[in-house]
Order: sequence, then structure tokens, then C-alpha cells
Amino acid sequence: MAITKTLRFEVFRRDGFRCAYCGQAPPTVILEIDHVNPKVNGGEDSVNNYLTACYSCNHGKKGKPLDKIPPQLIKNLEDMKKEEKQLYDYQKWIKKIERRERKATKTLNEIYEKHFPTWKFNDTGNEQISKFLKMLPLYEMETILKSSISKFAHSHSDAAFHFCAACWQKTEKIRNWSPTKKSFILYKELIRNK
Ligand SMILES: [Zn+2]
Repeated sequence: MAITKTLRFEVFRRDGFRCAYCGQAPPTVILEIDHVNPKVNGGEDSVNNYLTACYSCNHGKKGKPLDKIPPQLIKNLEDMKKEEKQLYDYQKWIKKIERRERKATKTLNEIYEKHFPTWKFNDTGNEQISKFLKMLPLYEMETILKSSISKFAHSHSDAAFHFCAACWQKTEKIRNWSPTKKSFILYKELIRNK
């Protein structure tokens, strides 16, 4: 069974992107996966039997010049760079989503506190807001909150309750969506805010 790209990347990451035998790292060497117990000796295809090794250590040919490395291995290094880039992009994306949620929660809290200066959303309220923010764009939640406040201008608790109930109703259909479909909402708003 061939090692998948993802698994190879995981092993490299576990071993700190260094050859387990000589400690060298890219770009000085090209990393490969070594079977600790060779397959011919019955070594299994499992993470516990994989180790990061440089080309030289893995093939027992120390000092092999880089230009003798088969094109396939160079291609592997390029794949690895792509995977690292993907991981970086993914982390950036997550941070962007977290930033958006913090900013949006703050905006909604400010609107509420402007009308009810002696009251604020507690932890449960803010948790609920976070959940709705994963399904509704901020501008929509702002509209709902403002209309709840104007409807219940003299009751801080009714305004907050109506706001949450209206968001709940609004997300009824969305709650059954797949995570991919839900993420479209975030995507749409990230674009809109830019
Ligand atoms: Zn090595």
C-alpha cells in the first residue's frame, strides 16, 4: 500500500521535518519516509513503522550529489511545499473567521448597550450570538437586533429574547445545511467586508 501524501506530511511533521538519523532538514536534504522494520522483513504499513529519513540515510548512500536525485523525489519535495502552503492558508483562514466573529460580537454588544446602557449580554448570550454568527451574516443580525430593540425599547430582557428567538427562526433551515454550505455565508460576508 502506497503512503498517502497526507500521511507522509503527518510523519514529517511529527518528526519535525528532520532526518531521524542525521538530523538534516530541507533544503539541504530531501526527506523521505523510511520503513523502520523493512517491508521485506514483514514490516507493516503503519505510522509506528514510519520514520522521516533523508535520501542519503534512507538509501545508505552518503554524499550522493543532489543532481543525481531522481526527478520523482524532487517532485515529492514540491508536493510537500504545496501541502505546507495549504496548511498555512488554512490557519490563516481560521484566524480570519475567528477575527470576524470577535468583531461581529463586539458590534452587536455595542448596539445593545447603546440602548440599554445598564445591561449587557452575559456569557450565555454571547455564546448564542457566536452560534448564530456561524449561520447568519452580521448585517442581518444587526437588522434583527435593531428591530428587536425598537419593538421592545422599554424591556432589555424582551429585546434580547426577541433577538435570539428571531435569529433562531431565521436559522431554522440553515441549521440542517452541510458545513460546506454554511461556510458560504461566512465567505460571502468576508468578501463583503473587504
Ligand atoms: Zn539523513
